[in-house]
Amino acid sequence: MKTAVLSVGTELLFGQITNTNTVFLSKELNNMGLDVMYHYTVGDNPGRLADMIRMALEDVDMILVTGGLGPTQDDLTKEVACQVFGDELVVNEKALGKIKEYFLRTGRNMTENNAKQALIPSRATVFHNDAGTAPGFALEKDGKYIICMPGPPREMTRMFEISVKPFLEKLSDGYMSYKLLRLYGIGESLLETRLIDLIDNQTDPTLATYAKEGECQLRIASKRSSREEADKAVQDMIDIVSERVGEYIYSCDNEELVDVVGRMLLEKGLTFASAESCTGGLVAAALTDIPGISQSFMAGFVTYSNEAKMRELGVSEETLREHGAVSEETAREMVEGLARVTGCDVCISVTGIAGPGGGTEEKPVGLVYIGFKYGDKCFVTKKLSTGASRKWIRNHTLLGVLDIVRRNI
Ligand code: ATP
Repeated sequence: MKTAVLSVGTELLFGQITNTNTVFLSKELNNMGLDVMYHYTVGDNPGRLADMIRMALEDVDMILVTGGLGPTQDDLTKEVACQVFGDELVVNEKALGKIKEYFLRTGRNMTENNAKQALIPSRATVFHNDAGTAPGFALEKDGKYIICMPGPPREMTRMFEISVKPFLEKLSDGYMSYKLLRLYGIGESLLETRLIDLIDNQTDPTLATYAKEGECQLRIASKRSSREEADKAVQDMIDIVSERVGEYIYSCDNEELVDVVGRMLLEKGLTFASAESCTGGLVAAALTDIPGISQSFMAGFVTYSNEAKMRELGVSEETLREHGAVSEETAREMVEGLARVTGCDVCISVTGIAGPGGGTEEKPVGLVYIGFKYGDKCFVTKKLSTGASRKWIRNHTLLGVLDIVRRNI
């Protein structure tokens, strides 16, 4: 089914608010296997709104609208939906009851225009609003659908989860199953090359690759007559893909790399410590975001200066003088010192040049050394990101560290 997402609100056109509804809905619809063909935004103007809905419906089967369902004069989405879909607004007693109940529950006075929110197109399927007053609805004509939801993101997302999603699932013939695989360390073009025959010949399951900051994602989706069949088709494809690029896959369930690493450390009962220079504690901050990580994460040092590297980790003055703070030798002494000081099972060190200044021909901005130690295994990896911003270098280094831990424990 082809869909479009339409946002109503002059504030959006003025750039006063960010259109998070469209982002949310597009992700959800794509995840359900519904193709999103267009995004539209229109101000609070009934003529333009009607034109846009008509135009969109020439090309798509369903349009999902957010905004303009409120009680005020400029909220005209319902009227326009009726105009385009040939219906009229009538008082929906159930919706009116819900609105009255909402005002009673929240102890606020109900005004006359709030009652306007109980006016719903006569043929519509009504979606109640758990988080506010304006109900949403779906309306159909000649196999084309319009789904209208309130503008406030909290109300819209709840309504989508509770009512709209099940409605869409019922509409679609068959069951959709999908997984989002996350990969680190492989570029999108190499990923595509490795999977090109699968991508070129895809019918079901479908495969789509996405390049994200510092990583790649692969979406595998299948639509079959039963959920079991769809799940199996996806799993079989994951197995095939894993044979080819398995080493890069860190999650088949759309998890963050840090969460995967945190879970591995906890499951294996390993203690962890970090000594960071150019990342300034990013590794420690990311890991300590995970609830329960105190069972594993023992200490994080930010040894930014040479003095701190010597004092806290026992890096030798000679090493710093001869090889510099950003060097394989320093990274190694940092991680060895860290293991000595903390006694942790898994230790990592980071030293690099995040820029924008401080680079030389020999040691350019983006050069980073990551030290790793786990038992007898101790090594230093050199990474170089060229033409990247300070923020990107630091964030990318964080992912690099996490991936080294993932691969080596
Ligand atoms: P209400 O009952 O609050 O009037 P409504 O359905 O009429 O709801 P709007 O008046 O269009 O919705 O929008 C209400 C508020 O919701 C906006 O001021 C804005 O803060 C937020 N909002 C609306 N559309 C979007 C959007 N596309 N993305 C993010 N926020 C939005």
